[in-house]
Amino acid sequence: MTIYSGPVFEMAADQLTVVADHLNIPMDERDRLLMPKRSITVSCPIRRDDGTIAVFEGYRVQHHLTMGPTKGGTRFSPSVDIGEVAALAIWMTLKCALVGLPYGGAKGGVRVDLTKISRRELEALSRRYMQEMIPFVGPHIDVMAPDMGTDEQVMAWFMDTYSMYRGQTVTEIVTGKPVASGGTVGRREATGRGVAHLAKRVMSQLAIDASNATAVIQGFGNVGSYAAQELHRFGLKVIAVSDHTGALHDSRGLDIPALMRHAGTRGSIAGFSKEMEFDPSQILTLPCDVLVPAAIERVIDAEAAENLTCRILAEGANGPTTPEADLVLQNRKPEIFVLPDILCNSGGVVVSYFEWVQDLQQLFWEEEEVMRREYQLLDRAFERMLARAKAEKISNRIAAMAIAVEKGRTAMNLRGLFP
Ligand code: NAD
Repeated sequence: MTIYSGPVFEMAADQLTVVADHLNIPMDERDRLLMPKRSITVSCPIRRDDGTIAVFEGYRVQHHLTMGPTKGGTRFSPSVDIGEVAALAIWMTLKCALVGLPYGGAKGGVRVDLTKISRRELEALSRRYMQEMIPFVGPHIDVMAPDMGTDEQVMAWFMDTYSMYRGQTVTEIVTGKPVASGGTVGRREATGRGVAHLAKRVMSQLAIDASNATAVIQGFGNVGSYAAQELHRFGLKVIAVSDHTGALHDSRGLDIPALMRHAGTRGSIAGFSKEMEFDPSQILTLPCDVLVPAAIERVIDAEAAENLTCRILAEGANGPTTPEADLVLQNRKPEIFVLPDILCNSGGVVVSYFEWVQDLQQLFWEEEEVMRREYQLLDRAFERMLARAKAEKISNRIAAMAIAVEKGRTAMNLRGLFP
């Protein structure tokens, strides 16, 4: 029992146990790999529009300080808790190690229902959260980024708050900022584009013709919408999407550019088309070639895994598949090609890293350069994962995690135990 105990943290811990068993890591080393180095809980009081004061709970977990500064998103959601944030920080450590970034993982969150606060209150909360975190973050200590419920505007407020405190503009304190405020071109699209790029690589490996292929996407926020846009551009028919308001289905393929414009102005897919409305609980099991869960954790449990009908599972979200579902996926026929989250959605942190590098150097790249370098890192990690999975006859997830854990463990052991 730890302060992190809860279903999402247990899931990350179970995944690490599977990998540690595979790598024969001695028992006394395992806690050091699993347990977060540092975690911070803060109270964020803000004045509401009606003049009253409300207090929101905020968290930041820095998992692993061995490889460099920590890096990770900040989630604004009503269900966020310290265990979920810790699990997300662990996955960030693994993701950064897998694709070769000089970071440990971190994650943050504020427990807030965004449908119940105004834009002014959101700004006050964003600024107060960053202000409370100032003693614990820094461009070479811990660098925040967007995650579920936060966006470029929130990152601009974070950056401004930190810069006001320092008395100078410090763009490199967060990534995922607007381009006009020191962000990089290609960051907004990076995660979704990376998901689609890797899905396309698997499609060519499985000889699936994009012009005859279909895709289904759960979640139509930053990751889901840009993954949909890119898959649509590759020629796939995106036959269904869902978000927290419901789902849409059209076997002829949804008009993704129109849906993106609609969601961009309305904030969700609600109201796009009455005729296309569909039961969201059926979305994951719709027959399709590429399934992209791009919303929340643990949506694919053992039962859902039995009923999946996709050929490729491209994990846009963090932790969408439980360890029990993994066991089902490893043994089921026909096989489903799994692109595990720590690889599949790593395009976001890869381009966040590029943003940080550009901010530190004050030298900015063209979008082609950003995309070329993003795909280069993703392709390299994809090939290493496949080679490892094949050589050791293990699942893609275990292979990807084994590569990442080995890297972190080697660095940790070389540095030794202080004092
Ligand atoms: P977002 O807030 O932009 O979008 C989240 C989407 O999920 C929204 O469309 C929301 O309506 C939908 N959603 C929420 N609950 C849902 C539910 N129960 N069923 C169906 N849809 C639901 O968030 P995002 O940044 O796109 O993040 C989505 C996932 O991707 C998260 O797991 C996040 O950790 C992960 N991720 C994000 C990034 C990034 O760069 N933003 C990078 C890597 C991983």
